[in-house]
Amino acid sequence: MTVRLRVAPSPTGDPHVGTAYMSLFNLAFVRQQGGQFVLRVEDTDRARFQADSEAQVYETLAWLGLDWDEGPDKGGPCAPYRQSERLDTYQPYVEQLLGEGHAYHCWCTPERLQEMREDQQRRKVPTGYDRLCLGKTYEDRAALGGAQERPVVRMLIPDDVPLAFTDLIRGEVHAPRPDDQVILKGDGFPTYHLAVVVDDHLMGITHVVRGEEWISSTPKHLLLFDWLGWERPQFAHMPLLRNPDKSKISKRKNPAARLTWFVEQGYLPEALVNFLGLLGYSLPSQEEIFTFAEMSATFDWSRVNTVGPVFDLEKLGWLNGHYIRELSEEDLRARLVPFLADAGLYDGSAGHLDLLTGAVPLVQTRMAVLSEVVDLLRFLFVPEQDFTVDPAAAEKNLVGAEAILTACTDALEALDEWTVESVQAAMDAALIDGLGLKRGKAYAPVRTAVTGSGIAPPLPESMALLGKARVLRRLRAAA
Ligand code: GLU
Repeated sequence: MTVRLRVAPSPTGDPHVGTAYMSLFNLAFVRQQGGQFVLRVEDTDRARFQADSEAQVYETLAWLGLDWDEGPDKGGPCAPYRQSERLDTYQPYVEQLLGEGHAYHCWCTPERLQEMREDQQRRKVPTGYDRLCLGKTYEDRAALGGAQERPVVRMLIPDDVPLAFTDLIRGEVHAPRPDDQVILKGDGFPTYHLAVVVDDHLMGITHVVRGEEWISSTPKHLLLFDWLGWERPQFAHMPLLRNPDKSKISKRKNPAARLTWFVEQGYLPEALVNFLGLLGYSLPSQEEIFTFAEMSATFDWSRVNTVGPVFDLEKLGWLNGHYIRELSEEDLRARLVPFLADAGLYDGSAGHLDLLTGAVPLVQTRMAVLSEVVDLLRFLFVPEQDFTVDPAAAEKNLVGAEAILTACTDALEALDEWTVESVQAAMDAALIDGLGLKRGKAYAPVRTAVTGSGIAPPLPESMALLGKARVLRRLRAAA
């Protein structure tokens, strides 16, 4: 049997990091098994729908290299892959369930449902739909008040609803008893619960891998599979990613819940894939640094965590720094260009390309994320008339600065050859031997004068790249 798995994002805003996490685990298994991976867009919640969200899902997953075989953009044997384009598909199953007594119409207004819930809470009885509409016609129901003309369709949950099921990650799971779930809304759109079951069946999905928040919905899905006479897929419920306070990771509390944030910050896709893998999985070797291919080759559901991992940005920064150091200088240069260009610092000229080529080895070991290059190399690319010194950095080493800057200027001015070695030798002779200073104390005001800030790559290297004329001009201006 070929396995078929799917990820089913809802286009309700910036793509959520959970979509990448789910895609990764689905795909690790799919690629190991030589199966197919389907991207299905679950856009039946029209109130929360956002038009550009779907394209962002494609872009961010493609950026991560988490590629799908079938989807709205790629087509495939089960098209369409957008639920809003499949409305006719769901209707006959609703009719079947109504005809067989597994579902019923409900005309209750939202206000009536609200009153019902408040009353149940007051009486401290379990909340849930009280089946006022069950077995009634619209006329019967309208006579009682609190009814609207357009009904929804609800599942009639039987007493023997299957509450236990086997989960590939968790073993035997017991879910709570569900309420009479709405499966078709008044607007003719199916709810998630109906659409997910119909589509998973029609798309031949063999394994449903999704977040643990769906465990409590699984009994409803099992019932629908059974009622419609369809084979149940296997289930694997992944532990939810958590904020440091252990709450479910959300865009409201954590910028890292948005996938586009990682692109903006300059995380490498290979580092994020490794990190997301590490959050839910460990290799048999316990090695923390691994590629998608290594994860997929060793993939085993029994090695997936059941406890919700905390999304530790410090760890991700460490991993990202590792991946940055592993890049070839040419590759890193290409990845830095967009950050410098977006900051208005890089113009793509041959001069800028040379400068950047020289600067790459200086910054490669100094970044946790690529966006840091903007502050690290601003001094090198900024047009001379726009160069300014950060007052806070200047403030820190005022004492003795004038003497240091003057001595340094004189020494450098005399240089014929402008290399890292000659610059360093001249500075050391003037400041360490000449003024009797320690290197740290001696270099600090020079660094601020030349780079404008306290954070910069090593000083002689920076000065060698910057060139004699610009260095002298900045030293004189600072003195
Ligand atoms: N559309 C659901 C979501 O956004 C998918 C859940 C599932 O995979 O069944 O979480």
